[in-house]
Amino acid sequence: MSDPLLIPCPHCNGLNRIPGERRHESPRCGRCKAQVLPAAPIELTQGNFASQLKGDLPLLVDVWASWCGPCQAFAPTFQQAATQLQGRCRLGKLDSEANAQLSGQLGIRSIPSLILFRGGVEVARQSGAMPLPQLLAWLRQHGL
Ligand SMILES: [Zn+2]
Repeated sequence: MSDPLLIPCPHCNGLNRIPGERRHESPRCGRCKAQVLPAAPIELTQGNFASQLKGDLPLLVDVWASWCGPCQAFAPTFQQAATQLQGRCRLGKLDSEANAQLSGQLGIRSIPSLILFRGGVEVARQSGAMPLPQLLAWLRQHGL
């Protein structure tokens, strides 16, 4: 038996306690019954960002904008990464236009930008889109 992991619900922001060995079994939120670890990126906003930074799994953030061609081109890669990393890393997309204040606080200078958080602290950052193998290799360098 492994220690339970604290994981915020992407839907209601409630913190769930998920036994480590159960995280690959599509656990549901104790409060709202939404999937706690969906196989798709979650939507981050100024409203939920602080809550979603919490918990025991790393959070990989894709900062993007709807007018940005490279961001659009990168979206399917990010989706594939979310599927491959399900249960190990949480992935979220942050619309830099809709959340300009938060993007400014994060010091975003160009998009797409990828930021990896662990324990609520930034541990790595990369500007520009990457093919999936390169993205996974980059994450491996940072312990994933
Ligand atoms: Zn919930």
